[in-house]
Amino acid sequence: MSRGDMAKPLLGHGSTEGDPGITPASGRTVGVLGSGDFARSLAIRLVCSGFKVVVGSRNPKRKASLFPSAAEVTFQAEAVKKTDVIFVAVFREHYSTLCDLADVLAGKILVDVSNNTEINHHKESNAEYLASLFPACTVVKGFNVVSAWTLQSGARDGNKQVLICSNNQEAKRTVAEIAQVMGFTPVDMGCMASAREIENIPLRLLPAWKIPIFLALGLFLCFFTYNLIRQVIHPFIREQKNKFYKIPIEVVNTTLPCVSYVMLSLVYLPGVLAACSQLYYGTKYRRFPDWLDQWLQHRKQIGLLSFFCAALHAVYSLCLPMRRSHRYLLIETAVKQAVEKKMNIWVEEEVWRMEIYISVGIIALGLLSLLAITSLPSIANSLNWREFSFVQSSLGFVALVVSTLHTLTYGWSRAFDENQYKFYLPPTYTLTLLVPCTVIIAKVVFSLPCIRHRLLRIRRGWEKGRYVKFVLPSATGEYASGETSSNV
Ligand code: NAP
Repeated sequence: MSRGDMAKPLLGHGSTEGDPGITPASGRTVGVLGSGDFARSLAIRLVCSGFKVVVGSRNPKRKASLFPSAAEVTFQAEAVKKTDVIFVAVFREHYSTLCDLADVLAGKILVDVSNNTEINHHKESNAEYLASLFPACTVVKGFNVVSAWTLQSGARDGNKQVLICSNNQEAKRTVAEIAQVMGFTPVDMGCMASAREIENIPLRLLPAWKIPIFLALGLFLCFFTYNLIRQVIHPFIREQKNKFYKIPIEVVNTTLPCVSYVMLSLVYLPGVLAACSQLYYGTKYRRFPDWLDQWLQHRKQIGLLSFFCAALHAVYSLCLPMRRSHRYLLIETAVKQAVEKKMNIWVEEEVWRMEIYISVGIIALGLLSLLAITSLPSIANSLNWREFSFVQSSLGFVALVVSTLHTLTYGWSRAFDENQYKFYLPPTYTLTLLVPCTVIIAKVVFSLPCIRHRLLRIRRGWEKGRYVKFVLPSATGEYASGETSSNV
């Protein structure tokens, strides 16, 4: 972002206008200790949000030109004297060098924005460490989850949460107000004990994605090996044919849909298992085993990876005719046909199979795209619960059924052709059908009125074997009440 760009107010005061919950925090003087990347972005954002900013540096003369002219850059002690809220934009290692300022800092709010380089790097959090160095100050942890870049571009990139914690409610409220005026959404994370958790957040690498990614890679490896044996190793051993050229595209392209299809079914399988557990125990209050809980929580990521593989499969499939091997094989077939004087090689059944197969595949990809888009937080938040569950649950199930049709039309009658069994291994698509078909059959069984009704009752709080009050109309039209076992 250019300096010119930065000089323009990104937010002004529009974000808080008319909000009675916010005191006019803008106009307040805010201090920033440090003149590095974070301090600079913070100062620019504060100035643009209407705050007076005073920056404390060890070398103000040299650093002043880096800051907007509206911000005052002075010595650390001078800056601290002019404000009661100070952002400490200095690394933890240098906190002790600020101890000379202890007297002027006394009674002020220090905002600890620091991060570590490793998860749980130190025994105590940086904020707790800062609080121990300055016992006369009130320390608030916050702003560490936003980068210097986000501070500058946040208003354009959409809202961003700022996690805040402190043992002092008043100080926390002051910092939350500043964050809000700056266009961020403050999130109260409670007392200072949460600082360690907040400091670990920017260091975590896709925590919710680990299991789904390993699952996808595991499935990819299994199906890839299986396809490699069938498509490359088998012709090499049995017919001494060199089909190794198939590895980069054909084998990968037969593997990707298998992974995508099985992953999609794995999005709905835990729901089926959860329903089975609820039906078996006759209650929704019994905790699911941990592995099922984890699985249920990772459904979104599993679904997105399924979509990713499906999208790759579509691109690979479009590229199939571009390959030189494809052109050679096409010419070879044409020459063979000419030598054999065959005029017509049109097979009506094959033509229909392919047309249906491709059409159903496109529909499946379209439905998966819809599922992926609606799982994005910004879209999901704009849907009500019914709309969200309609797309994710009902349309998702339709996507699974359509993908099954895609797989079945691909296979057609090949499952019954003994030439398709290489080394006695069945065609890959027959294997992929196992889990999705189990899910579809289970879903159909659960939709039977007797089972559906019982499941609905359980999900509304009914429990097997629990005594409940009942109210029945009597023959005279009056109501009689009593107690009965709910599972009678
Ligand atoms: P930086 O560019 O290295 O700036 C650090 C500043 O600390 C220096 O410019 C220096 O300013 C000041 N400082 C004070 N005492 C110091 C000393 N004894 N030795 C060296 N420097 C001293 O670092 P930064 O990227 O701005 O990060 C500052 C803090 O913000 C860190 O705690 C970091 O974890 C946190 N943070 C940064 C980001 C980011 O995107 N950069 C994001 C979140 C949190 P003077 O020379 O003017 O005194």
